[in-house]
Amino acid sequence: MQFRVGHGYDVHKWGSDKPLVLGGVTIPSERGLLAHSDGDVVLHAITDAVLGAVALGDIGRHFPDTDERFANADSMLLLKHAVELAAKEGYRVGNADITIVAQSPKMAPYIEPMQVSIASGLGTASKAVNVKATTTEKLGFVGREEGLACHCVILMQAVQ
Ligand SMILES: [Zn+2]
Repeated sequence: MQFRVGHGYDVHKWGSDKPLVLGGVTIPSERGLLAHSDGDVVLHAITDAVLGAVALGDIGRHFPDTDERFANADSMLLLKHAVELAAKEGYRVGNADITIVAQSPKMAPYIEPMQVSIASGLGTASKAVNVKATTTEKLGFVGREEGLACHCVILMQAVQ
């Protein structure tokens, strides 16, 4: 197969005093996300998309949250590991499109730094990475500010 597509989706609950890290970028916030790892919901969705594209399961299979080695793990290392696994299967990243679903904080100032950071994790150019953010018009768990979600779609290309 020359191209393979992957999808990733992740949710974390607000309610910790950890720093808010999204796409590998620390964002000023009065609250953080509950997680065994650093809670980077964006990198988790992307990692799942990479693993999904090459049919290697999901992030929980490779980095179980019951494993103490991954306590407060830097999610960028998990993403890079998934990209290495995909490379062993003969695929590299084509492009990625990411949607953060959050009622707050305002993401606009951090979109570009996130694209640069994610591109470095994926081993691709930042123009191959698109990050956008949306609210849910105050509807649902995101709108009630109970948590934050992220979707990612990724295209992987066979290395020639
Ligand atoms: Zn997660």
